[in-house]
Amino acid sequence: MSDLLAHKPISASVGDYLKAIWNVAGSGSASTNELSEHLSVAPGSVTRMLGRLREMGLADYEPYHGASLTERGRREALRLVRRHRLIETFLLEHLGYPLTDLHEEAERLEHAVSDGFTERLADFLGHPGRDPHGDPIPAADGTLTPEDSLPLSEAEAGRRVRVSRVSHEEPATLAYLAENGLIPGRLLKVEEVRALDGVVTVEDEYGTCHTLGGALARSILVRNL
Ligand SMILES: [Zn+2]
Repeated sequence: MSDLLAHKPISASVGDYLKAIWNVAGSGSASTNELSEHLSVAPGSVTRMLGRLREMGLADYEPYHGASLTERGRREALRLVRRHRLIETFLLEHLGYPLTDLHEEAERLEHAVSDGFTERLADFLGHPGRDPHGDPIPAADGTLTPEDSLPLSEAEAGRRVRVSRVSHEEPATLAYLAENGLIPGRLLKVEEVRALDGVVTVEDEYGTCHTLGGALARSILVRNL
């Protein structure tokens, strides 16, 4: 591969695929079906794009065995994730965007800004470690703090936990959690985790009890205190 090609900025659609592989599988491998579902595109289009990513040296891909990111693919994915999460922080803290609207706007803007802009933005924001959803922001060198959170659905009754992240790709879930104050930083006491149906009951730091269905409890990530 020529040096010129290696430094050519990747297109928005290529970037979205790299991020999708990273979101679905991290450093593991993502199947065509998983990617098709995650990106809401037909499996045939996913297969074609994976072939392109392989040609570009961004992903390893074998039909029927799924796709995983190469080192260069991972670097590109994390670069976009860094932009995305810094932009979300900026939109919330300085432009007054509601929490539910951050993700979509950041999805658009992340493809429009340069690395230079991103680093100025990081300076301006004081180099935050996490975005408004509690997701860790990768460093400029592509390193990422290892995840030490677990889903609330796997917490132990009687433990005190702090909400570290909430799922934010589903605006309705996010709106519900925000309305109920179940946001990053909130302290909770786990009252009950019902094995039968995964329903979790917690009491927040203001004494309010919340009963959360299994799917909701899985979309809240917490750290044990
Ligand atoms: Zn987002």
